[in-house]
Amino acid sequence: EDEKRKWVKGKKLGEGTYAVVFLGHLRDDPSTLVAIKKMKKVSKDIEEGMSHDAIREVKHLQELQHDNIIALRSVFSSKDQNLNLVLEFLPLGDLEILIKGDQQRKIPGVRYGAADIKAWMGMLTRAVWFCHENFVLHRDIKPNNLLIAANGELKLADFGLARGFADPYQYMTANVITRWYRPPELLFGAKHYSGAVDIWSVGTIFAEIVLRNAYLPGGTELEQVKLICEAVGTPTEDNWPGVTKLRDYAVPSTNPVRGKAYYERTFEILGPEGADLLMRTLTLNPNRRITAKEMLQHTYWLAQPHPTRKEDLPRKA
Ligand code: ADP
Repeated sequence: EDEKRKWVKGKKLGEGTYAVVFLGHLRDDPSTLVAIKKMKKVSKDIEEGMSHDAIREVKHLQELQHDNIIALRSVFSSKDQNLNLVLEFLPLGDLEILIKGDQQRKIPGVRYGAADIKAWMGMLTRAVWFCHENFVLHRDIKPNNLLIAANGELKLADFGLARGFADPYQYMTANVITRWYRPPELLFGAKHYSGAVDIWSVGTIFAEIVLRNAYLPGGTELEQVKLICEAVGTPTEDNWPGVTKLRDYAVPSTNPVRGKAYYERTFEILGPEGADLLMRTLTLNPNRRITAKEMLQHTYWLAQPHPTRKEDLPRKA
């Protein structure tokens, strides 16, 4: 293919569950560095035409251009039918490393405060808002998918599972989103879901940045539901009409839904406005959960302290 010829693949940068990532550059301009992400085949029985479908699915992400979304410069399939994504090169690591440090190299996480948290959350919220405005669900938002650019900009990455909002009558797979960031509707096997799934992930990340530890680190799906019931409250017909009809609905105990006082106490650094915003992102009922657009209109962003300017944000651990 033509598109493939435009890029030169270099050394291997890393390997994840679904992909091997290589450094690369534009054949005509070696100074334009990119990351070439070669997706692993999900299963052996994928048919010949599959990668064409996959390409079509991913192509529309090329048009999703925003400061806080990793730029997808090109998509092509290699001769072995693998899907290759040509992405903006972001070598400074991700938010997970920033929070936790680099365990292997024994480097602690960076110091950050209320204004820095507000800046990172602002960038994340704008990224999610932009996706949703363009009818794209990300579906796998987690700290290691939030990459940091050289200018301090936070970039939402890894749209491996992203897809347009489905036809509401078409079933969607509930087996998406890394467990700790997975909303209750997916844990209960909901077949129809919305942008609210991404907002729940944003909420759990908001909490994680404050606590410097995962907020709901369930070891299994059952434990994940238990942790949600204990930390946030138990989904019931009262707070979420219809929830008990979902295929996998099962709860270990009935705990009241947490009020504002809990969030203000547990996430004190956020102040009352931030605690209120966090509470709304962690609303159990997806139909009542705050939207990205509503998040951007929240008073948290205007309250003191103002968000840190991106160029002044603390960098790499
Ligand atoms: P994971 O499965 O851990 O999310 P990925 O498959 O997305 O990992 O990527 C594997 C590794 O490749 C990452 O840990 C990172 O070091 C590197 N990487 C991924 N994308 C980029 C990029 N756009 N720029 C620079 N390095 C990248």
